[in-house]
Amino acid sequence: MLQQTQVERVVPKYEEWLGKYPSLESLSRATLREVREAWYPLGYNIRPVRLRAIARAAIRRHRGKIPDTREELLAMKGIGPYTAGAVLSFAYRKDAPILDTNVRRVLRRVFLGDRATPTDRALWALSEALLPRGQAYDFNQALMDLGATVCTARKPRCGACPLTKVCASYPL
Ligand code: SF4
Repeated sequence: MLQQTQVERVVPKYEEWLGKYPSLESLSRATLREVREAWYPLGYNIRPVRLRAIARAAIRRHRGKIPDTREELLAMKGIGPYTAGAVLSFAYRKDAPILDTNVRRVLRRVFLGDRATPTDRALWALSEALLPRGQAYDFNQALMDLGATVCTARKPRCGACPLTKVCASYPL
């Protein structure tokens, strides 16, 4: 829900959605029309359709559970590398890297400088190499939060940042 959508808009819809579909089972039984209506007015209407498809695939092929391996997650339509990493590290507490818009920006600025134009491949490798083993949940959350609240796209708050001593872009 948070992809391309602000947190304030997501929170009430997230609660409403979970109230309606508290389990993969209930989501898998919903019609396409029902899930689209339940999603309104968030936009990007392919998302509820894909969530329903994922719920149905989990019921059919994974004994009613979202799988916990990268390969199985990526085989589900609608799940890309970022979502797979988020599911593995946040839901299953596995050592899996993530790379969303905020994390991309933080890694680029800290390690390469604000004007660098690294490939996604290089940033994924960096995100993986940095992971402190056994602490991916906290590490990934911290990276995302830093990008969302301190190292923002416009007007980064370098004065409040804990990374000034190691950041290649400081001061920005
Ligand atoms: S010092 Fe500034 S540019 Fe570097 S990570 Fe912190 S907020 Fe971002």
